Amino acid sequence: MEKKNIDWGNLGFGYVKTDYRYVSNYKDGKWDEGGLTTDDMVTISECAGVLQYAQTVFEGMKAYTTEDGHIVTFRPDLNGERMEHSAARLEMPVFPKDRFVDAVVQTIKANAAYVPPYGSGATLYVRPYMFGSDAVIGVKPASEYQFRVFTTPVGPYFKGGAKPITIRVSDFDRAAPNGTGHIKAGLNYAMSLHAIVDAHKNGFDENMYLDSKTRTKVEETGGANFLFVTKDGKVVTPKSDSILPSITRRSLIYVAKEYLGLEAEEREVYFDEVKDFAECGLCGTAAVISPVGKIVDHGKEICFPSGMNEMGPITKKLYETLTGIQMGRIQAPEGWLKVIE
Ligand SMILES: *Cc1c(COP(=O)(O)O)cnc(C)c1O
Repeated sequence: MEKKNIDWGNLGFGYVKTDYRYVSNYKDGKWDEGGLTTDDMVTISECAGVLQYAQTVFEGMKAYTTEDGHIVTFRPDLNGERMEHSAARLEMPVFPKDRFVDAVVQTIKANAAYVPPYGSGATLYVRPYMFGSDAVIGVKPASEYQFRVFTTPVGPYFKGGAKPITIRVSDFDRAAPNGTGHIKAGLNYAMSLHAIVDAHKNGFDENMYLDSKTRTKVEETGGANFLFVTKDGKVVTPKSDSILPSITRRSLIYVAKEYLGLEAEEREVYFDEVKDFAECGLCGTAAVISPVGKIVDHGKEICFPSGMNEMGPITKKLYETLTGIQMGRIQAPEGWLKVIE
């Protein structure tokens, strides 16, 4: 199969239209058979549930080429499972996870010419999502829905090395206790836009959100979970019912324990403890781990010993091991890599 003529190494993170997308519609209580289409336009009622009351959920994953030339994607079953939970929380019908994986595989295969070659650092970003598509004016769930998957090639996350970022403790809240912080829904992002624009205006890369009830515990950023390393080399990630269960974070905990022989735990992390950690990073599909060099809490700076020039040593080991597994350089645990072709 011939690859598209794209300068993979210089791609950014913007939407680039590819050839095929997957669509399935839900009507009269069931999903239709679904299938691929070349039509990238969505036509829905001006009064659609998604447009009026934000009834929409999504997933984010990547397809890429391994060292031995296969196209793969990473743990798509977990994305399918998470989307089931997200949909149920917003009173949307569940798109079954087996069908989710099949739709993702079909879409990647159809766009194989856009999967960047091994070593380019670029990947094919995969975006499954669904939304209420029929007219809803009284506040209630829609009765018709559309599930779609599209792909778009994206460039290397770190161009010229992974430089640590600076984040601030936010005065805005991301998620309410017993709210929707644990699902992957557009509504959580809409309300974070003001906070991130404001953070950027003030010279920060990201926001650290604290738990909104007591404002004493670390939650996450707008789109990534935290990972800390203690001075004695233990990996710690915050536990909370209002953060999104990152697949990258869950995979890193496994890698820490099973591949690197480190102690790793998921527990409540008080902001007061953060100054005592040796390393800090943000985990998510986009970057795997972005190193954090500094956290600023209303003028008070916490500078991690790993500094502003490079990843901390344990963060780096975690990053290299997980990306090695993803790229096929290190043996993956059973079921982690889904081979597309
Ligand atoms: C998607 C997302 C993450 C990262 O999850 P991954 O499964 O690792 O990509 C973290 N936090 C939020 C709020 C997210 O939406």
